[in-house]
Amino acid sequence: HQQRPHRETPEILMVQPLLEIKDLDICFQTEDGPFHALKNVTLNVSRGRITAVVGESGSGKSVTALSILQLLAPNAAYTKGEIIYHQGAGSMDLLKQPIAMLRSLRGNSISMIFQEPMTSLNPLMRCGEQVAEAIMLHKKCDQRTAREQTIALFQKVELPDPTGMYKRYPHQLSGGQKQRVMIAMAMSCGPDLLIADEPTTALDVTVQKTILELIRTLQQESNMGV
Ligand code: ADP
Ligand code: MG
Repeated sequence: HQQRPHRETPEILMVQPLLEIKDLDICFQTEDGPFHALKNVTLNVSRGRITAVVGESGSGKSVTALSILQLLAPNAAYTKGEIIYHQGAGSMDLLKQPIAMLRSLRGNSISMIFQEPMTSLNPLMRCGEQVAEAIMLHKKCDQRTAREQTIALFQKVELPDPTGMYKRYPHQLSGGQKQRVMIAMAMSCGPDLLIADEPTTALDVTVQKTILELIRTLQQESNMGV
């Protein structure tokens, strides 16, 4: 057994797998018969790394993203493959987990952000309260602590005037600001995996850049896989 000096450890040895999608097939039952949306999809996400999936519209990017936590419509069948999630020292095939396990992973260690923040934000609730509610639910803390943590998160996602933002309703925010609130919500549980499905498509080009930079900064700070 040879001792290897720490600084010479090749970087490849430090890459830890977080999510491994292997040979995934997804088939939808439709009025016109079965529709094979995914065939043999294989991809890896490592801890502290970003994996990007690129493809034309309709090629199956969203279906792949949604399949991870089995959030597809009920007409979807997971006909083949594995989705291995490595958590701590253990690992599990997400496709074989009961719904209770998937629920507990969702918003605890795996978070998602979507293209259109308004589909995920409640228009009738103040932005800060929505994030605070999520924090109270997941961390079982009191309202005051949740409020403090929300304002700290708003600072982290670089929302201007975090205390003022807390009190605003979603329609009083710009598109980029709403996406920052969504990112704050997604980060609130300290996820180790963030699934982002075209998180900037609905934003104008200059805002897209700052949101992508924000995701990269948060990813590096928390060693999250994206
Ligand atoms: P994109 O790469 O643009 O995100 P999607 O993953 O949304 O593409 O869609 C991949 C394919 O799966 C598309 O042809 C879409 O119409 C089809 N699809 C998605 N959801 C369903 C569903 N519930 N029933 C039938 N077909 C679906
Ligand atoms: Mg899509």
